[in-house]
Amino acid sequence: MSRFLSERHAALTPYTPGEQPKEIKYIKLNTNESPYPPSDKVVAAARDSARHLNLYSDPQLSELRRAASIKWDLDENMLLMTNGSDEILSFAFSAFGDDKHPFAFPSLTYGFYPVFADLYHIPYKKIPLREDLSVNPDDYKSLGANIVIANPNAPTGMYLNPDEITKIIVSNPDNIVVIDEAYIDFGGESVLPLVKKYSNLIVTRTFSKSYSLAGARLGFGAASPDLIRDMNTIKYSLNPYNVNRMTSACGVAAIEDSDYYMDNCQKIIGTREWTKEKLSKLGFTLTDSMANFLFAKNDTLGGENYYKELRSRGILVRYFGGETKDWVRITIGSREEMEVLIDATSDILAESNI
Ligand SMILES: *Cc1c(COP(=O)(O)O)cnc(C)c1O
Repeated sequence: MSRFLSERHAALTPYTPGEQPKEIKYIKLNTNESPYPPSDKVVAAARDSARHLNLYSDPQLSELRRAASIKWDLDENMLLMTNGSDEILSFAFSAFGDDKHPFAFPSLTYGFYPVFADLYHIPYKKIPLREDLSVNPDDYKSLGANIVIANPNAPTGMYLNPDEITKIIVSNPDNIVVIDEAYIDFGGESVLPLVKKYSNLIVTRTFSKSYSLAGARLGFGAASPDLIRDMNTIKYSLNPYNVNRMTSACGVAAIEDSDYYMDNCQKIIGTREWTKEKLSKLGFTLTDSMANFLFAKNDTLGGENYYKELRSRGILVRYFGGETKDWVRITIGSREEMEVLIDATSDILAESNI
C-alpha cells in the first residue's frame, strides 16, 4: 500500500481470480470456462468489427439489446448490457446498497459479493447454508435486506427452483432480490420471465460460461425499467462505453448462434454426469451440481493434497481452503479432459494407499 491510498480503501481485500497460467500445458479445470471455442460467426463478427475500432462503441448497445430482447422475450428497456456480469453485479450493489439497505447472501457463494459490499461500504450479512451445503429459501423470507443469490450457487452448483425463488421475491417487497444466473444454462430453469412481474427482481446473466466468451467480457442484467434506469445512472457515471465494439458484435453473433451453444451445454451436462459417477465410484462425495462444475471431496486425499497432486500432473482445479478446505471445485471440460482427470485421480488414490 502506498502512502497515497485513500483511507476508504485501506481495509479492502480484493477478489482473487483463479489462476490463468501463461503456458498452455495445463488442463484448465479451475475457472469454469467452456472447453468449446466460440462459433465461426462470432469469430467473423470480432474480425469485422475490429475494422471500426477507431470509433467508440454505441453507449446504448442498441443492436445487442435488440438481439437479447428477442432471444429472452423482454423489452429493451428491461436490459442493461455490461462488461461481464461482474459489472452488473457491481452496479446493483452500488445503486441499491447503503447503511439502511444492507445486503444478504449465502455464507458460501461467489467470492465477489462481499468484495463489492466492502468496496461500496455496504453492510452485509452471510446466511448459513444447510448441513448439506444447500441454500434454505426459508432463511430469506421477509429478511428486510437486499438479497443476492447465485442460482445455481457457486461453488456447490446447488439449485433453487422458480417457486422457491418467487417466495423470496414476494416476501421482500421493499428490497431488491438479485438472482445471479451465471450457470442457469446447465440444467436449471431461469427466472428471467419473472422480471416482468416483480419490480424488485434483478436477474444477471453472463456470456462467460455457456456462451464461450469469458475472454470477451459480456454479461447483462434484466429488471423492471425503473431498476434498469437506476443502474444506468451508475454506468453513465463511470464508463458509458462499458462494452467494447468487438465484444458487442460477438454478443449479437453468439445470440444468433444460440443453438450451437445450447448443444455444447447439453454435452457439458452429459460429461458432468459421467464424471460425477466416476468420482463417486472412486469414493468422492459430491454436491448435486446443476452447473458446469462439480464440488467434490475425498476424505482419504484431503482437498489441498488432491489439488496439489492434480497440479503436479498438469491438471488445474480450484481449491478455496478455509471453510471448504476438504473440497475442490472441478470445471467440466471436454470428455477427453475429464478422462485424463479420472485416470490421474485413480493414480493418486492408488499411490496414497501404499
Ligand atoms: C463467473 C461468475 C460470474 C461473473 O462472470 P463474468 O465473467 O464477470 O460475466 C458471476 N457470478 C458467478 C456466480 C460466477 O460464477
